[in-house]
Amino acid sequence: MKKKLIIFDMDGTLYLGDDLFDGVRDLFNFLKEKKINYVFFTNNSSHDLDFYYQKMRRFDIPCTLEDNFYSSSEVTISYLLKKKVKTIFPLCNESLLKKLKEHFDIVTEYRKDVKVDAVVAGFYTELIYQRLRDGCLYLENQNPLFIATNGDYRCPIENMNFIPDCGGLIEWMRLTSGKKAKVMGKPNPEVINYFLDKYHLKKEDILVVGDRLYTDIQVGINADVDTLCVLSGEASLDDVKRYPHQPTYIKESVVSLIDMLK
Ligand SMILES: [Mg+2]
Repeated sequence: MKKKLIIFDMDGTLYLGDDLFDGVRDLFNFLKEKKINYVFFTNNSSHDLDFYYQKMRRFDIPCTLEDNFYSSSEVTISYLLKKKVKTIFPLCNESLLKKLKEHFDIVTEYRKDVKVDAVVAGFYTELIYQRLRDGCLYLENQNPLFIATNGDYRCPIENMNFIPDCGGLIEWMRLTSGKKAKVMGKPNPEVINYFLDKYHLKKEDILVVGDRLYTDIQVGINADVDTLCVLSGEASLDDVKRYPHQPTYIKESVVSLIDMLK
């Protein structure tokens, strides 16, 4: 197999919590040596990318913040710019808000006489109810774009527990306003388009690697690029067999990539 860019999921694919899986460091040294480019992509829009960068540095994985780290936030901003959006009503953490402010005017309270072009929801762990309420009022009374960074219903934390993620938030808003969000992160093929454009690649140059079927693997299927499903995280072999679409490759561990790329 020959690839020019590998898009990695992180949690459950390379590590779980603070434990890097065996052999992962060798894999990245191998990719570096073979000059195969790689990026780490997370649907999680609640942290700065620096959070992930620091974590990978602690694991001693060769990477730079500028070249290797992307989240659904970047894909969302790139899409909003393409759509010529000017004014945004945000429901997101301060870290995403900071990035949105670099490109758009921000409105944080519902006012009948103030128009917004888009209501943008992220993984909102700093949730303020008034923002949720006013976001729904904008959806009900105007016709803005309704964009979400990601559609994950829950986010894994320590001890196999989960916390509510953006997918649940936009579902709550849909039940209130009747409006359905367009989801930007995985599995939206917009993620792959972003990298195809950025690095001037063809679809056959890209491999997507991850442990979750309905995001990591589905994004590759939706964009028609090769996928590797690893069984080190969420999906078991039974889950993969039951899933209506099949990944191109299935391996126990991401480290098998060394042999696959030789
Ligand atoms: Mg994962």
